[in-house]
Amino acid sequence: MERKIPWDNTARNTLSECNRKYYFSQLIASKSRTKQLPRKVHELKKMQNISMWQGSVVDRFMETEIIPRISEKKPMDFTALAEQAVELAKKQFEYSRLAIYTDPVDGKLETAPEFCILDIHELGKPFEEREVVEAYDNIRAAILGLPEIRMPDGQTLLGFLQQCNRLTPNVYTWMVEIERAVVKPQIDLLALHDWKPVIIDWKLSRSHTANYARQLTICGIVVYLKRLATPDKKPYRHEDIRLFEVNLFKGVVKSHPFTAERANEMIDEIHLTSEDIALLLGENEEPDIRDFEGTDNDGSCKICNFRSICAFLYLNDVYDEKAFTEFVQANQFA
Ligand code: SF4
Repeated sequence: MERKIPWDNTARNTLSECNRKYYFSQLIASKSRTKQLPRKVHELKKMQNISMWQGSVVDRFMETEIIPRISEKKPMDFTALAEQAVELAKKQFEYSRLAIYTDPVDGKLETAPEFCILDIHELGKPFEEREVVEAYDNIRAAILGLPEIRMPDGQTLLGFLQQCNRLTPNVYTWMVEIERAVVKPQIDLLALHDWKPVIIDWKLSRSHTANYARQLTICGIVVYLKRLATPDKKPYRHEDIRLFEVNLFKGVVKSHPFTAERANEMIDEIHLTSEDIALLLGENEEPDIRDFEGTDNDGSCKICNFRSICAFLYLNDVYDEKAFTEFVQANQFA
C-alpha cells in the first residue's frame, strides 16, 4: 500500500529550508518519554522565544476565555480579562523556568494552560527582565484592544463574532487526504456566520510583510473537502468560505479570498510536495538522520530550534541526555 504522507504548511516550509530540520521536526519528535532523543527533540520543537510566546499566550487566551464568553453571551470586562491574560503568562513563565515539562508526572499534560517552554530557560539564553515586562504589556494591550478591532466592512470584530451561529476555537482534528498527502491543519477559530464557514487565524506579529494567506487557504481546502465528503449536506461553494487573518497586536483584520483557482493551485502544490517528501523518505519506515542533509544557510541555522541537538549529533553518534545537557551549557546556542 502506498505510504501516506502527513502534510502541513510548516512541514512543507521546513523541508524547503533544511532536510535535517525536517527530520527533527516531522519525523522523530515525539511526546512520548520512552526514548530520550525523540522526547528532547519534541521539547525543542515546542520551545519559543519571548516574541513568539506572547502571541501564543494571547492565542490560548482567545481559545479558552474570550471565545467561550462570546459563545455563551457573557458580559466581558476587558480590563479584568487583560489582567487574567497576564496572569496566565506569568504562570507559563514559571512553568518554563522550573522546567516542569521535564517532569514525567507534573509535566505530563501538555494541554494544561500553563504548559510552556522558553528558550531563555531551555538553552539558558541571556535575557533582560525588561523583555518579559514588555511581553506582559503587549499581552495586556492585545486584550484591551479587542473591542476596537474592526472587520473589513467596518463592523467590530466582537460584533461580528456575536452574530455567528457557532464558534469553535482550536480545531485540530479535521483531516482530509489529497492523493497520498494527509492534510490536518490547526484552525484557530472556525465560525459559522449565516451558516457559512468563516476561518480566523489570530496573529500577534509586528511584521508588515508576513503573509498568512497560504495557511488560511489550506484551512479553507480542508473545510471545503470535508463538506464535499458529507453526502447529506449541500456542498459549499468556494466563495462561501471566508478567510480572515486578525492581527491582535496591530488591531487589523485582513481578508484573504478563497476561490476555486487558489484552492486548486494549493491542491497541486500539496500533491507535488508530498511526492517530494515521499521520495526523500523512501520505503524506509525508520528514517536515518544520515539521509537528511543540513543546510549551508547560516541564517536558517541561527534561528533553528534544533541547532543544539543538530550540532550535538554531528559530533556524537549516540544521544546521551547528560552529555547533551553539558554540551548545551558549554556552548552558546541562543
Ligand atoms: S541547525 Fe541548521 S542544519 Fe541543523 S537542522 Fe537546523 S537548519 Fe538544519
